[in-house]
Amino acid sequence: MHDVVVQPGRDRSLRRRHPWLLSGAVARVEGEPAPGAWVCVRSAEGEVLGHGLWSPSSQIRVRMLRFGKEPADDALLAERVADAVALRAESGLIGDTNAVRLVNAEADGLPGLVVDRYADVVVAKLGTAGMAARRELLAEALARATGAARGFERADSTAARREGMPARQGPLWGPAPENPVWIQERDRRYAVDVVGGQKSGFYLDQRDARDLVAGVARGRRTLDLFAYTGGFAVAAARGGAREVVLVESSAEALALAGRNLEANASDAPARLLQTDAFRFLRAEEEPFDLLVVDPPPLAKRRGDVARAARAYKDLFLHALRRATPGALLLVFSCSHHVDAGLFRKIVFGAAHDAARPLQVLRTLGAPADHPVSIDHPEGEYLKGLLLRA
Ligand code: SAH
Repeated sequence: MHDVVVQPGRDRSLRRRHPWLLSGAVARVEGEPAPGAWVCVRSAEGEVLGHGLWSPSSQIRVRMLRFGKEPADDALLAERVADAVALRAESGLIGDTNAVRLVNAEADGLPGLVVDRYADVVVAKLGTAGMAARRELLAEALARATGAARGFERADSTAARREGMPARQGPLWGPAPENPVWIQERDRRYAVDVVGGQKSGFYLDQRDARDLVAGVARGRRTLDLFAYTGGFAVAAARGGAREVVLVESSAEALALAGRNLEANASDAPARLLQTDAFRFLRAEEEPFDLLVVDPPPLAKRRGDVARAARAYKDLFLHALRRATPGALLLVFSCSHHVDAGLFRKIVFGAAHDAARPLQVLRTLGAPADHPVSIDHPEGEYLKGLLLRA
């Protein structure tokens, strides 16, 4: 195994168990480890800090898999997969659903690996050279731990570019999945496009918020802004909403939203609008009693934060203008650069500009199948507030 030696004084974050060794902190590499190979990470003084997987093309040169002197090998990955799957099976954590996140990268001790389960289909993204080099081992470990009939790999072109590797998509084991895959979450059924949909097909991270919407929707005119395949709209319709209005720019997503509404609440009054959400809010006057505002990440990089903050505020301000007195609003940001404190300030700014009092009823976030490692705060991205206008 090759050694990677850290610059003097640049070992602090590793000693705090942060799992990334950045290129600028590497003093030298002994020999030429292959992309994805195990490496031993040492301090400038020669102390073994831990073991990880080598990514020569990425700014994150090593993803640490284990800290301390104890060596690590491929068996550790299979163990971690089994452990991650077992966590999701613990009763009471996630509730009644056959669609869960099984592996959440760093938070499950498996940087680079994200795995979701949709009914009998396991969908994996192998986002680092280390994970891509262990495709077969991971497929086997996932098949064994889940007992699922099919495994499918979703390409992650951003990660592939970062890691300097080809983006691959296709079956990992078993036959190719039928598409869409139907999942059952509580009393809701959703069609999930595991081959071409956003993320791995569905926003599993909004499950708790969907439950909340289902519980409060009765009798309310509901707006599902940035609706994607209608996760929230279906929950609202099942919960007895008076009407649901979906706004989404993607025609494919909206087509699935239509199928989802049909499958769950075929007689609920619904309008599906393929349009720009910002334009919709400015053009429309009609008021809503329940509004879900779940935009795509407006800040992709740290440098985008100021501009994104203005865009979020503008969005929430215009949503607020569509809210009846007593309306409930669920507002979200999934940009990890916008932290919970800034998010609250943005909402405050919108309320102030709209001259509307707002009550915060609940703080929302990703459910228990999306854990965050205490050592890796970057893993926390989804923030939401339940508000009463
Ligand atoms: N609420 C959804 C997830 C939303 S993700 C759910 O729970 O499933 C953000 C969505 O916004 C994506 O589907 C994307 O296609 C859509 N989108 C992005 N920009 C948009 C815009 N300007 N107007 C309307 N929709 C937009």
